[in-house]
Amino acid sequence: MNDREANASAGLGARIGVLGAGQLGRMLGLAGRALGFELTFLDPSADSPAADVGELIVAEYADQAALVQLASADVVTFEFENVPLEAVKALERRAKVFPSSRALEVAQDRLHEKTCFRSLGIGTPAFEAVETWEELGAALQRVGLPAVLKTRRFGYDGKGQAVLQTGADARAAFERLGGKPLILEGFVKFQRELSIIAVRGRGGEVRCYPLVENHHAGGILQKTIAPAPGVTADLQRAANQHVEKLLAHLDYVGVLALELFEVQGQLLANEIAPRVHNTGHFTIEGARTSQFENHLRAISGLPLGATDVPEPCAMLNLIGVAPDPAPVLVVPDAHLHWYGKEPRPGRKVGHITVRAPDSATLADRVVQLERSIAG
Ligand code: AMP
Repeated sequence: MNDREANASAGLGARIGVLGAGQLGRMLGLAGRALGFELTFLDPSADSPAADVGELIVAEYADQAALVQLASADVVTFEFENVPLEAVKALERRAKVFPSSRALEVAQDRLHEKTCFRSLGIGTPAFEAVETWEELGAALQRVGLPAVLKTRRFGYDGKGQAVLQTGADARAAFERLGGKPLILEGFVKFQRELSIIAVRGRGGEVRCYPLVENHHAGGILQKTIAPAPGVTADLQRAANQHVEKLLAHLDYVGVLALELFEVQGQLLANEIAPRVHNTGHFTIEGARTSQFENHLRAISGLPLGATDVPEPCAMLNLIGVAPDPAPVLVVPDAHLHWYGKEPRPGRKVGHITVRAPDSATLADRVVQLERSIAG
């Protein structure tokens, strides 16, 4: 591939390869089809949600023949960060891959991630690397209680972590999580959880969506309010600066999410996701350009779309429940997304986005929707 070919933007009918074919892949596929792209997914599961919106190669992520097939696409990306780093590196030897394996490597390890935040001057909770029981004792001396013990790799939706309230909790948590590299973090008594989604194009252009407010239960995202109410211009500016520094440092291309804690008007970084993100689902109807479209525009070298959010909106995850669609869709400006998955406890099977002309009307609509989801 010469430089001109490597830098050329994708044209109509371009083929996009995606590692992973979950609901994020499905929504990327829906946005990609509208742009005239052909999508090819690689996923170990034959009944993946993205199978309806493109070609699906059913294989393990590390399957070399499957990776070679995926690499014949014009551009390759991923929708899941717990893919083997080696698979992404193998793809990079054959194809244009965005974001890069370097960004993935940082995001896959909570210690690298927090060290990266610190090196860029982005505030974090106190943290210490822990491998042994003795190291946990020393780390607890420095970080103090309460604290959170987490596996460095492969945690998601609150899995692979334990809150330590007392010294006695440490033994049980270490017995459950030990044997793997760990990180101990100070427990942050945050006012609320926020996140910012941003997109960077191949030429370095960056656009940020407004900060959003996130509500979790049992470690799983339940609800996003966008934009986050009561955000000052200073707070939004600080978030934009943090995410812009990260994107530039990682020479990142595509959509990235930065999860933050708000503590007394300051932002502490919790983690990044090197992909489209659940807290950005509201952008499909709520922003001028969705995160899915902007990710595809970015990786294929096309101009980025506007990221303004014209009116207040909320996103409600459907977790293990299949609501009757009629009472949902009777709510003005409510939009239902169903991922085609079998409902199981704790499983994200769809989401609803609702918009309103003002915050009070939005709050009423959210209550109405929450009632209809609960049945
Ligand atoms: P994570 O997997 O790191 O995103 O953590 C899942 C959830 O646990 C977060 O959304 C927070 O609600 C909570 N959490 C994680 N780390 C901390 C921390 N250091 N202090 C307080 N709460 C935390």
